[in-house]
Parts: sequence; structure tokens; C-alpha cells
Amino acid sequence: MPETFRDNEERQRFELEVDGPIAFVTYRKTPDVITLVHTEVPPELGGRGIGSKLGQATLDAVRAQGRKLAVECDFIRNYMKKSTAYNDLLVEGEVAHAEPAASYKATCFCGAVEVEVSGKPLFAGYCHCADCQAWSAAPINAFSLWKADSVRVTKGESEIGTFRKTEHSDRKFCKRCGGHIMTAHPRMRLIDVYANLLKGYTHEPTLHANYASKMVSVRDGLPKYRDLPANLGGSGEMLPD
Ligand SMILES: [Zn+2]
Ligand SMILES: [Zn+2]
Repeated sequence: MPETFRDNEERQRFELEVDGPIAFVTYRKTPDVITLVHTEVPPELGGRGIGSKLGQATLDAVRAQGRKLAVECDFIRNYMKKSTAYNDLLVEGEVAHAEPAASYKATCFCGAVEVEVSGKPLFAGYCHCADCQAWSAAPINAFSLWKADSVRVTKGESEIGTFRKTEHSDRKFCKRCGGHIMTAHPRMRLIDVYANLLKGYTHEPTLHANYASKMVSVRDGLPKYRDLPANLGGSGEMLPD
């Protein structure tokens, strides 16, 4: 069975392709440090040790590239607990053992529904798409995208309604007050919890999405994508501030 490992810089991830399906580790790179963010092994590759192979190949690649290592991904963190062979790669002060992840709560307008997120979002920014504008009755939506398994409904699950205009977005709201809570993106396995609802959370936007349909300009110097960045499935095309 052919296995190919590569650093796909365009999609910002290490990939292990096994006869078609691709397992991958997403990352952020600076000249000195690579931060491993999230690992995904497709279900059809499960139970075959592919995750461990990917972990090893990824950490070997980090070493070969001469960068220091930071780890946000639980999978890689757990992999590194099994062996100390890569601990020398870690940036100073970083330990392989996870600190308890920070968590934040979001509630709907009336408080009947409460969700909790933990860790860090994979992406945070602003969306200017026509759907967000219409759904939120606002010109811009502040989004924070979390792995689906780091979002938990902690109160009022039965009060949550879902509206699905497209198969890519399950928009969730409180049936009691109509307040919006989050939008699940099943295809990406990510959930957008509306950043302005998260108590104690600091929104650290890195981009503007769907700027082609903006109602207002935001001259904050952040990248403005016509639709979405390539690693979120978009064209990656940029527009002026
Ligand atoms: Zn409510
Ligand atoms: Zn949008």
C-alpha cells in the first residue's frame, strides 16, 4: 500500500497519504517555530497505526526543518508522552504535558442555552458573507472556529433549534428567545461559536472572510479574503483593505 508523506505548505499541514485518503497535521509556521495545531485521521484509515506514523513523520520533519516545536494538538501531545525522543525540539518553557485547557461559556440572549468551549479556536476572524449578514441582522459576524469535540452544550440542549439553509452550515439558535448561539460546519468538522457571546474570551481575529460581499470596510490591516483562505477550502484570493 503506497504511503506518501509531505509538507503541504499551501494548506499549512503535514500530510500522510495512504492509497488515496490523507491523514494530516495542521500547523502554523514562523521562521523559528512550528506550532502543531490539529491532527485528523480519516475514519477509513483508523485502527492501522496511521496516526502514530503520521506523528513520527511530522516530528522528524520539524527536526529536519530546524524549527522549534510548540504543540496545541492533543493527539501530538499524547504521542509525545509515549517517548521522550522529540522533547528537545520543544520551545523553551513548553512541556509535553498539557496544562488544563482554558474554557469559556456562551449563553443565548435569555440564558436558557449555554455552551462551553475549551482550548483555543483554530481560526478567529470576521465574516462578511450575505448569509451571516442576514442571519445575524448585522453587517459583520465575529466568528471563532473550534474543533467540534471541544464544544459542549452544558444547558438547555432541548431548547436549541437548527436552521439549515445549506448543507455546510447548521445554524443554531435558542427556540425560547431567538438568540443565536453557534453554527456547526459538518463538512469541516468545526463549530463557529459567536465570539461576542463567549465570556472572558479575548477575540484575536487573524482575517476577514467573504470580504467581496462586505457592507462596511474594516481598515484594521488584517488580511481580507475574497471568500476563504485556501486551508479553509476557499480560493485564497485577497482583496484590498
Ligand atoms: Zn434563549
Ligand atoms: Zn458568513
